[in-house]
Amino acid sequence: MITAKALISDGQGQFTVKQIQVGDPSNGEVRVKIKASGICHTDWDSIQNWNKEFIVGHEGAGVVDAVGDDVKDLAVGDKVILNWAIPCGECFQCGEGNLHICEKHSPVCGCALEGHAHIDSSTLNNKGIERSFHLGTMCEYAVVKAQAVVKITSDIPYSSASIVGCGVMTGWGSVVNAADVQVGSSVAVIGCGGVGLNCIQAAKQSGATTIIAIDINAERLEQAKQYGATHGVIATSDDIDFIRVKQAVRELTYGRGADYAFECTAIPALGSAPLTLVRNAGTAVQVSGIEQRIDFDCELFEWDKKYINPLYGMCNPQRDFNKILSLYNNGQMKLDELVTKTYTLETIAEGFDDMLNGRIAKGVVILDDSE
Ligand SMILES: [Zn+2]
Ligand SMILES: [Zn+2]
Repeated sequence: MITAKALISDGQGQFTVKQIQVGDPSNGEVRVKIKASGICHTDWDSIQNWNKEFIVGHEGAGVVDAVGDDVKDLAVGDKVILNWAIPCGECFQCGEGNLHICEKHSPVCGCALEGHAHIDSSTLNNKGIERSFHLGTMCEYAVVKAQAVVKITSDIPYSSASIVGCGVMTGWGSVVNAADVQVGSSVAVIGCGGVGLNCIQAAKQSGATTIIAIDINAERLEQAKQYGATHGVIATSDDIDFIRVKQAVRELTYGRGADYAFECTAIPALGSAPLTLVRNAGTAVQVSGIEQRIDFDCELFEWDKKYINPLYGMCNPQRDFNKILSLYNNGQMKLDELVTKTYTLETIAEGFDDMLNGRIAKGVVILDDSE
């Protein structure tokens, strides 16, 4: 049993730093000393809407501090990145290779949101407390399933490693795994925040030759060019149907439309926007996870256009985190640059404020700054 500081939310808009007790790992679990935790829009949503008490945070990196029985390939001292879609390796979807939508452990089973048991071995005032996505990374220690961590060997700082397990993976995997962007192709990316920038750098790595960044903020378009965007198109809020953006994208793609378009804004009214921007038989990808009801003109699907909505960049954590880190080690993947600002558990309110006002690509909470 270890005492640890954690960010606790009531799921009704409040969050406070509290001391909790973190137990030892059981069979198949490890305890991780969390060094850094990324801040994500999903954290903010969970604080507002989950309506139950829980430990915040689902993006993290740290060091294995204790290992339970029946854990192979992990040892105390291993540097790890956490992943929130935890594959069991045994169910139907895991067998199909869809580890990110595992039927037993993944949050898409609904358990993380609906408050089924899943009380981890952490306690607050002698009562078990849940961890966000079974991770709860805004805490000095986390006991998690062994399949929730990926061992890494890169010299990457923990702050940069912590963001790989959510925003980076979602953007990068949507391009590489879901859309399978081809060499020499054209790509449009709507929204150039933390996720959009990772779509852009993945498109560049995949050999796309026309990469069009779209945002309402001119500064963000400039930044997108550092990640591989070849063109920037400024959007305006009065052009919600993307009439002018569509025109600009067509002019850059032989009058045809882009081969691929990625929506990364989480603005429901833009749910159909990627279909507007792709050519016939092109691929439109909704990356941001819009769940609201929206009006859709089915003509947008003509002719032979595909619309896909991948979860978590169809993440296979062991395979993909290692690919991302080898690109980072080769200088082809910007991760340090994505971390605009760091915070502590005590200054997290400022981090949420910066994120919600679009002042940062990615904010990170540092829980332990010793390397
Ligand atoms: Zn996230
Ligand atoms: Zn499974």
